[in-house]
Amino acid sequence: MTIPVMKPWLGQEEADAVTEALASGWIAQGPRVAAFERAFAEHVGTGHAVATSSCTTALHLAMIGAGVGPGDEVVVPSFSFIATANCVRYVGADVVFADVEATTGNLTAKTVEAVLTARTKAVILVHQGGMPADAEAVRALCDPLGVAVVEDAACAAGSTYRGSPVGAGARIAAWSFHPRKLLTTGEGGMLTLDDEAEATRLRRLREHAMSVSAADRHASDRVVLERYLEVGFNYRMTDLQAAVGLVQLGRLGEMVARRRMLVARYRELLADIPGLVAVQDPPYGESNFQAFWVIPPEDSSRSRDDVLALLATRGVSARRGIMAAHLEPPYADVPHGDLSVTEWLTSRSLILPLHHHLTEDDQRTVVGALRDALAV
Ligand SMILES: *Cc1c(COP(=O)(O)O)cnc(C)c1O
Repeated sequence: MTIPVMKPWLGQEEADAVTEALASGWIAQGPRVAAFERAFAEHVGTGHAVATSSCTTALHLAMIGAGVGPGDEVVVPSFSFIATANCVRYVGADVVFADVEATTGNLTAKTVEAVLTARTKAVILVHQGGMPADAEAVRALCDPLGVAVVEDAACAAGSTYRGSPVGAGARIAAWSFHPRKLLTTGEGGMLTLDDEAEATRLRRLREHAMSVSAADRHASDRVVLERYLEVGFNYRMTDLQAAVGLVQLGRLGEMVARRRMLVARYRELLADIPGLVAVQDPPYGESNFQAFWVIPPEDSSRSRDDVLALLATRGVSARRGIMAAHLEPPYADVPHGDLSVTEWLTSRSLILPLHHHLTEDDQRTVVGALRDALAV
């Protein structure tokens, strides 16, 4: 019996919603995707939402929407899932890595400012593992310079920033519904934004840049001939996925409350491991704790990877912390400044199991195994 690091919370309601969508005969992007977009925009508090096939494709569209192209630089944290950096390469622009702060694992106005140049076109601000980044501070730096701030909120559904959902004040934010995140549709993503013209363009781009969507053509009782207005993509979500997403969105509040309760209990159990640091909310927001990472005591002689291996022998499936893109082959040659916090976090941190049905016994098993692994 292994305690998994993450497990989606899915039930009969999701199964029923998929059955209903199947029975309707409309399974590609259609009315359920439109309903999911409206519900998600309302949840975040933005004017528009554009559903996509993943957060990676959403980020690609966001780069196009921000007008990023060859010759431009985009500042990203190396301390992120590699898709954050990859979307910059998709549009032929140059990745510029900035360091993160140790407490949240996020970019700050200071770390971004250190790497801005005359060529900086955009910054991708990640809310890493659901930890809200200080978006207002980064916008205050970037807005006067005409640098677009794109928020990678892949992990942050249900996290809050200054009392509102993360993404509420964003120029544009990209979300993921991969099963590793809280709210899942199997695969899937979303963009949220206020600008109507940009939303219309991105909605078209995700569907081959068709002037009329397939769903609208089929709904019309007249013959509608579509045009293809630019080079678009097939980045559509399906109605089967959206049916699941609508149910999952209804569960989000409960999911976050449960995770925060489990994290509070982890904190109590971990308190007797001296020197261990656990990630916690910043003063200006609350995390959904999509990822709960800890950093073993500095004087621990076991390497992080040895600790992970020992946990695995005890049936605990922990994970290494968030990766660092600049250490991976596609980015190894990118010149960069100081990334010492990134390198420290990525080599030292580990992510503990956290999912809706985790029990108190499970948590005691995890912490007991961790305590033993650290006691050399
Ligand atoms: C998971 C993740 C992505 C990619 O999301 P997909 O939906 O799997 O494409 C992008 N950025 C961050 C920070 C992520 O954690």
